[in-house]
Amino acid sequence: MNDTTPRLDSKLLQVKNLNVTFVSAGVAVQAVSQLSFELDAGETLGIVGESGSGKTAAMMSLVKLLPMPPARIEADEVRFEGADLLRLSQQELRRIRGRRIGIVFQEPMTALNPYLTVGYQLTEGIIAHTRCKRTEARARAVEMLEQVGVSEPIRRMSSYPHELSGGMRQRVMIAMALLLNPSLLIADEPTTALDVTVEAQILDLIMKLRDRLGMAVIWITHNLGVVAETCTRTAVMYAGKIVEVAPTAALFESPRHPYTEALIGALPAFHPRKEPLRGLNGAPPDLSCLPSGCPFEPRCSYAMPDCRRTSPELKEIAAGRCSACLRVQRGEW
Ligand code: SF4
Repeated sequence: MNDTTPRLDSKLLQVKNLNVTFVSAGVAVQAVSQLSFELDAGETLGIVGESGSGKTAAMMSLVKLLPMPPARIEADEVRFEGADLLRLSQQELRRIRGRRIGIVFQEPMTALNPYLTVGYQLTEGIIAHTRCKRTEARARAVEMLEQVGVSEPIRRMSSYPHELSGGMRQRVMIAMALLLNPSLLIADEPTTALDVTVEAQILDLIMKLRDRLGMAVIWITHNLGVVAETCTRTAVMYAGKIVEVAPTAALFESPRHPYTEALIGALPAFHPRKEPLRGLNGAPPDLSCLPSGCPFEPRCSYAMPDCRRTSPELKEIAAGRCSACLRVQRGEW
């Protein structure tokens, strides 16, 4: 079997000990550290955390969409449908990106070519991956634009990205990501640049397409509200590490890491009306000189002396739940 050939695995994606380091002017910044997780076929996993927590760097490194250098990507394994992605050639990886893994970026203007029409970009993507005839590719592109709710899809095929609204551009981006029925969609803050009404439409659209196409989704966001609406399981990242993983409903009901609790406490929807919102004091640590103990210790209201000395690993604390907190692991919280 060719290494890029899809095969039926119980896990769609397995990531073991992923590290991403950016080295610039002699300074090494550890953006992602010892990241491990798995994803089932058809599952929706949310990756949440503040800006700079490493969520985008981690997910883009899986498909080598980071500039190397300055990025250095290392992992024991990044296995997707049987293929170890980090050990594939760029050509083999290109075959998987776009065909088996679709990606929707935060700002479609950076992903769409401003000099080419929407129709050209969509049909070229299909032809490059399938070598089908241009007329077939064009028909598929129009059908996909229709599916993602682009009005007058035949006319839009001749439009340039700047002629479309932000919401329409994002729909085109989603159409492009889903053209070849991928088994995994990585959605990197796809609604952040949109207003609330369009955000709701795009969320709804991606979830409907997920159900119709049966694909798995990794949803990268800083917005816990989005995760609550869309994801079956959630991983919380802080300072380049996963600090908690749990089924989403359980995570909101009883967070098992002080950082998760603080994030939820800052959400208006999860807060008693008469009490003022609880903000999260302090700032994330400098990733170029991480403390030797728990990276959340300076901001943690449950910190104890051991937290300064020991960097907690992510450990299973109950079936399907993991936490990287010493207090939780000792049963003291
Ligand atoms: Fe807080 Fe200590 Fe747990 Fe870190 S290990 S989150 S500092 S209690």
